[in-house]
Amino acid sequence: MVETQLRRRGIRDGRVLRAMTEIPREEFVPPEHRVQSYRDEPVHIGYGQTISQPYMTALMAEVLELDGTETVLEVGSGCGYAAAVLGALAARVVTVEIVPGLAQMARANLRRTVRDANVTVVEGDGSLGYPERAPYDAISVAAGAPDVPLPLLDQLNDPGRLTIPVGSFLDQELRVVWKRGGLIDTRVATQCRFVPLRGGEGWN
Ligand code: SAH
Repeated sequence: MVETQLRRRGIRDGRVLRAMTEIPREEFVPPEHRVQSYRDEPVHIGYGQTISQPYMTALMAEVLELDGTETVLEVGSGCGYAAAVLGALAARVVTVEIVPGLAQMARANLRRTVRDANVTVVEGDGSLGYPERAPYDAISVAAGAPDVPLPLLDQLNDPGRLTIPVGSFLDQELRVVWKRGGLIDTRVATQCRFVPLRGGEGWN
């Protein structure tokens, strides 16, 4: 997976490649889908949700340019895999999941696989962020939004960066937003297709 799906497609951050080599992805995929764990596509994890394609998880981690010192917010824990990757790259991660059964699954998967307990799973509407632990040096949104939620921009540190799929229900562009000196700078990393962001700042 790391060689053919990540390195060959241009993922260069050695820390991202190492984290995804070391974290056992199969431990985050439900037993009935486990043979699909290393496929080059999203895999069902129940509740109509998916674990993202490995390349997408790598790209989203890479564009955040983490050096190990950051406090990171993830919106959309799913099974907890991306949170585990971010946890290996940053100082601490808060990940928010709106489906209670998935929040539980993520917590159990993380507890079983990751030695460092620097990832906290919170059940709730992450489209509003998680002000209790703000500001965040980096924010990763793993579900497609109609626009960049203002509460997330508010909770972003300065300097800080955020990545989020923005677009329609079916197709989005992965945006990378930097906040620096009070200014906002946005670029598009790729086209993508994520499950919809729900909640107050998502799709109703
Ligand atoms: N990060 C996951 C991908 C999860 S898919 C991975 O490691 O592959 C997106 C997740 O976002 C789903 O679990 C979905 O339930 C969740 N989600 C959707 N809207 C949300 C919201 N407003 N707050 C928190 N989680 C949300």
